[in-house]
Amino acid sequence: MLNVSEIFLSIQGESAQSGRPCSFVRLFGCNLRCVWCDTKYARGDGAGGAPSPMPVPAIVAAVEKLYADAGTPPGAAPVRRLVEITGGEPLLQRETAALCAGFLDLGYEVMLETNGSLDIGAIPAGVRRVVDVKCPGSGEEGSFFADNIGRLRAGDELKFVLASIGDAVWAAEFCARRGLAARCPIIFSPSAPSLPYRTLAEWMVKTRPAGVRLGIQLHKAIWGDRRGV
Ligand code: SF4
Repeated sequence: MLNVSEIFLSIQGESAQSGRPCSFVRLFGCNLRCVWCDTKYARGDGAGGAPSPMPVPAIVAAVEKLYADAGTPPGAAPVRRLVEITGGEPLLQRETAALCAGFLDLGYEVMLETNGSLDIGAIPAGVRRVVDVKCPGSGEEGSFFADNIGRLRAGDELKFVLASIGDAVWAAEFCARRGLAARCPIIFSPSAPSLPYRTLAEWMVKTRPAGVRLGIQLHKAIWGDRRGV
């Protein structure tokens, strides 16, 4: 049984897969308290929201139904379905690996986003893991589980949410010291309004940190800051 916050179909907005139609399973409960958290309702600390306990097959069936209800245009070529398991912090729940496996078994392309504080090693091969590293401006600097760097594999990526140019400098140094540009895509995602997209873009153009790409939260640019998108 897993504690679920919400399940919905939207656009992948925060990774190297940004722009692709994607379903999301947001799991409930988090061990961190980022200053700029935009999913407080999924943390489980009384900031709103409540968990819905669901077994793995019911979660998979709910995502299948979303795609079935969305329909497929006549004559369209079959497209591999994309699902992201996120949170909250998905690795807090024992059955998250089984949930990934359930989607893989049905041929889904599976992503998992984690806050980076817990071991990613138990997530099955074939899952694209988006591993966050918390910068000083999050209030959770030092939460990163350092062994996760050694566990990165093809298809994974690292993500830094930045509250200031100071965070950007910190993140660029973090990556450079560990040679991460050669390991996987690195996303720098500005936390609006404290760091405007343009300010970070102009800093990146000037400094060109190795292997880094700008990631804006595409779903918020489209629908605004609200749940279920
Ligand atoms: S890790 Fe994610 S869910 Fe947890 S507090 Fe930070 S932003 Fe919010």
